[in-house]
Amino acid sequence: MGDRKRVKAMDRSTPQAGHRMGLTENTPAALLTLNSLDVRSNSAVSVEDTEVGLVGSDQNVAVLAPSKSRVLSGFEGESSAAGGSTLLLGPMNATNLNALRDLLPWLRPRPLGTRTSAGFGDRLGLATPGHVMALRAAGGGLAPIFAQQSIREMERTGRSPKEVLDEATWGVFAEGWQEGFGADADHLKTAEDIDTCVAAGYGFFTFDPGEYVDDGAEASGASALRTALEDLPWQDLEVLPADLKRRYLDRAFEADGHEIRFDNLSLARAAVKYGAAVARVVRLYRHLQAAMGERDFEVEVSVDETESPTTHAQHIYIATELRRLGVRWVSLAPRYVGRFEKGVDYMGDVAGFEEDIEVHAAIARTVSPNGPYKLSLHSGSDKFSIYPAFVRQTRGLAHLKTAGTSYLEALRTVAALDPDLFREIYDFSRGRYEEDRSSYHVSASLERAVKREDVPNEELSALLERFDEREILHVTFGSVLKEARFRDRLLGLLREHPDHYAADLEKHFLRHLEPFANGGSR
Ligand SMILES: [Zn+2]
Repeated sequence: MGDRKRVKAMDRSTPQAGHRMGLTENTPAALLTLNSLDVRSNSAVSVEDTEVGLVGSDQNVAVLAPSKSRVLSGFEGESSAAGGSTLLLGPMNATNLNALRDLLPWLRPRPLGTRTSAGFGDRLGLATPGHVMALRAAGGGLAPIFAQQSIREMERTGRSPKEVLDEATWGVFAEGWQEGFGADADHLKTAEDIDTCVAAGYGFFTFDPGEYVDDGAEASGASALRTALEDLPWQDLEVLPADLKRRYLDRAFEADGHEIRFDNLSLARAAVKYGAAVARVVRLYRHLQAAMGERDFEVEVSVDETESPTTHAQHIYIATELRRLGVRWVSLAPRYVGRFEKGVDYMGDVAGFEEDIEVHAAIARTVSPNGPYKLSLHSGSDKFSIYPAFVRQTRGLAHLKTAGTSYLEALRTVAALDPDLFREIYDFSRGRYEEDRSSYHVSASLERAVKREDVPNEELSALLERFDEREILHVTFGSVLKEARFRDRLLGLLREHPDHYAADLEKHFLRHLEPFANGGSR
């Protein structure tokens, strides 16, 4: 791993560590205590005449710079000077993170464009080092999004957008990931959400107009659709109903060998189902544009959390309308065919999924006049059976979005290190499941899931491989983390055993990332 770094690492295993940090033989004895500093080797970097790293079990930031250096003034902590150099040790707080961002530009989120990418939602704020390790092990070619959380999940875990971004950034620093990363403000629904995430420093914004998608349109007949069509927000759509027909009927949309046509009914259905959602996205987009000003940003549009699959014609309608209204996006998450339940594999016919996504991918590649965009796979955790088809058909124009599976890996670590805590969490999760499941797509049943008394300690982690138990544990994370008795012990354990948690994450995520590495077969 060390060879991936572009800058010199401080190696805590060599007796020359103090020397490498810039100290010479003439340095007074007081500063030679640096030798005993336990520098986390992947975090250590030098930029010009400044060296920084994370040290100690309580994870202080160490900064060593010439005493006259202006860099030092950005940090806070205890400093000692000798031989013209100053060593500062400070806490992992917001001030020191901002100073690090000024010094190390790769700690700021950046746009990722249409590179094959993976999003790693992390509900605990401790998973990024394991994500980085998996990414390195997968062999490259993947652009990561390390900070990614929906407003709903932030509310459930009691974390602010800024905390989510800062915690992921500390992980990036700790592991010395210098290849860049994105920060996804996920499933944004309101202008206020946008403002909070802009202020926190996010650069990637996922709009979720799901509440404006009219799923009922799929079952509506011609006359009901006609009425609903009149009620669309035509003013916001900046077009007349008659224009709609002129632009979509009596023509074929070519998508890389696939021809898609609208008739009166399918056009009315597309417009009724997604028209208000398009208007909503435009509104959010313009709000974001104004809020970002000159700053770069990227947008994803997602309608994945709706009932009925997005047809190919509906995909064309959404893309064409958004484009006409000036929206630029880097990825789109249609509602695909089949079932995407949280934290478990795809439920449906894999061949059918591939046929369906083949055309979605062709549309994303070719229909838009402003260049291709990625297809985004939401609820992407653990969908092992469809990754190959997804990567193959998108030809690597793909974004994989995962979130809850990192929490489940934390529970795997807990099962190994503190079986009693795992048992308590499982029992509590069973009790919360019926209520907590309501906002998620899951079908686990309490009747099918084992009771905690039935499982010997050494088989606890096997519960994470069982469908019902896995979903029950997955959707109840918010309730678990709201209980201080669980939260404190869980976080304490993971902080005490960061390598164990990182190894569990690396192993699990390697299975996610390998099919995507280097754009699949591209
Ligand atoms: Zn989603």
